[in-house]
Amino acid sequence: MGIDDRGLIFDIKRDSSEDGPGIRTTVFFKGCPLSCIWCQNPEGKKFLPEPDVHGKRIGTWYSVEELMYRLLQDKPFFMSTGGGVTLSGGEATLQMDFSGKLLQALKREGIHTALETGGFFRYESFKKKMLPWLDLIYFDIKLIDEADSKQYTGRSNKRILSNFSRLLSDAEIPVIPRIPLIPGITTTKENLTGIAAFLNDHGIKTCELMPYNPLWLDKLQKLGITPRYRRTSFMTPAEQQACVDSFTQHSPMEKKHAN
Ligand code: SF4
Repeated sequence: MGIDDRGLIFDIKRDSSEDGPGIRTTVFFKGCPLSCIWCQNPEGKKFLPEPDVHGKRIGTWYSVEELMYRLLQDKPFFMSTGGGVTLSGGEATLQMDFSGKLLQALKREGIHTALETGGFFRYESFKKKMLPWLDLIYFDIKLIDEADSKQYTGRSNKRILSNFSRLLSDAEIPVIPRIPLIPGITTTKENLTGIAAFLNDHGIKTCELMPYNPLWLDKLQKLGITPRYRRTSFMTPAEQQACVDSFTQHSPMEKKHAN
């Protein structure tokens, strides 16, 4: 069995109601090409198995068959609720061959498929290997300024914004932008109004604002990592409203809060 026949997974979350319609199982792929300083799934960043501070292993290699055996246990719930399977991470597109084979296996079973992506992938490969078997895409847009993107995610945003634009032309499925609200970084008025203008230019009518969740700091402790972003409190309602206002002042879009 070759490396492309197996996928490195760090978590499988059943009974999820946040990652798409209906009852879902979310598969968390290990490895991400970005390195956001606020990453809420830090155990998913490295594309290799690693121990936590207690010596427990994070990351398990699965074949498509092994993973499907786990996922099919919840098929009755998917079918009765309009749910399905969501590929998340980390970044599922980093393991493009495996992700594509998994999506094909899910579609052969008639299961709804969704992807949560940071958008940094090779577009032509994605279009060929994953897009035909996807029903829904959540596409993160974090920072509109290229220098900010390099500073806070470790990568230019050029490929991400270009992939988003190309996807809107090619995809015949919903592509829903998600904006993570990271106080002091993505929540600046310049960033939010810039993203609103970008989405408006693309005719996007809805997006999801994802308020900051500080619970990830506990995970860093378990991994023995010193955080580069240290806010420990949830966003206040006033802070969240200010973000919504930045959009509504500069764009006629509808906004949805996702908590
Ligand atoms: S794209 Fe997501 S998983 Fe990757 S580093 Fe950023 S927040 Fe973490």
